[in-house]
Amino acid sequence: MKVSEIIRAAEVQNKTRFTFELLPPLKGEGTAQVFSAIDTLAPLDPAYINVTFHREDTLYTERPDGLLERHTVRHRPGTVGISAAIARRYGIETVPHIICGGLSRYDIEDALIDMDLLGMHNVLALRGDARRGESRFDPHPQGHAHADGLVAQIADMNRGRFIDGRNADGELNEFQHKTGFCIGVAGYPEKHSESPNPESDIEALRRKVEAGADYIVTQMSFDNARILDFISRAREAGITVPIVPGIKPIATRSHLTVLPQTFRVDLPPELVKEVERCPDNAAVRRVGIEWASMQAAGLRKAGLPVIHFYSMGRTDNIAAVVKKVF
Ligand code: FAD
Repeated sequence: MKVSEIIRAAEVQNKTRFTFELLPPLKGEGTAQVFSAIDTLAPLDPAYINVTFHREDTLYTERPDGLLERHTVRHRPGTVGISAAIARRYGIETVPHIICGGLSRYDIEDALIDMDLLGMHNVLALRGDARRGESRFDPHPQGHAHADGLVAQIADMNRGRFIDGRNADGELNEFQHKTGFCIGVAGYPEKHSESPNPESDIEALRRKVEAGADYIVTQMSFDNARILDFISRAREAGITVPIVPGIKPIATRSHLTVLPQTFRVDLPPELVKEVERCPDNAAVRRVGIEWASMQAAGLRKAGLPVIHFYSMGRTDNIAAVVKKVF
């Protein structure tokens, strides 16, 4: 089932569902850890599961002659494969992510054709971040500089337009097969770090919707007021597609620095104070569960049909929130 249909069904039933995000296994690991994370949440009826996409990294090794050899490695490959494995094992809809970073349009098309052939018709389309060690995002020479280009490529495939096969006028030929992807994109309640101001960030979001996005999932935020303000600003800008808010139960003291640094989000002072008072990480987890439960209950009350949880691989605290609130 497409995510847009799942959201619509939840709206019609006046019910709030939950979803969560997982990382594909590290190269060399099997499926055990991912399946174990899902085992905790599958009985609680998640609406669908997102699976992140990880761009390549560069490693250097020293050759016997002393020269350095460069390797391009992907530490967490297999987004499409693990998404298909989850769908087959649990019968739960999966949403593989796909990014622009490091990929040409041809690589992207190949990955999307794999998904289409596997019967997976949900995808979250993202630009991705700068490569590790680089200060700014540098697009692949045959790729997309922004997520709106990626969305347009997927929307073209939905019209039967693949990259090659141009007609005499240089337009893409329409093939009989149309892929039918439901396309999600990212939104930022606290503004994307590269945007000069909130208005241009919303404008970029509007462009992604215009290019063909069916719904929006937000970056994590620990402040419902900012999430709800973002949703009203998006609506004022004419964005009508569903918006799924993202939240994360804080789980360790180190999250106080890691989360703002990695995801460019603020932590409310009250939350920081409560975490700082905790004697150990078990206590931090309890605070995280309380805070996320308060957020989830508030967003439910505000009538949002789906709430997305960032797991970073750990799902027991999400299960605690879901049991409390849903
Ligand atoms: P874009 O929409 O391209 O936006 C990037 C910046 O460019 C913004 O500042 C925007 O305002 C601006 N912009 C957008 N379009 C244009 C345009 N046409 N012209 C000029 N400026 C423009 N990263 C991963 O690597 N893998 C994942 O699996 C992953 N999953 C994510 C899931 C969610 C829900 C979210 C919120 C983020 C995720 N990310 C992931 C991180 C994401 O890749 C980064 O936040 C990235 O920096 C921006 O991606 P985007 O798709 O929002 O990019």
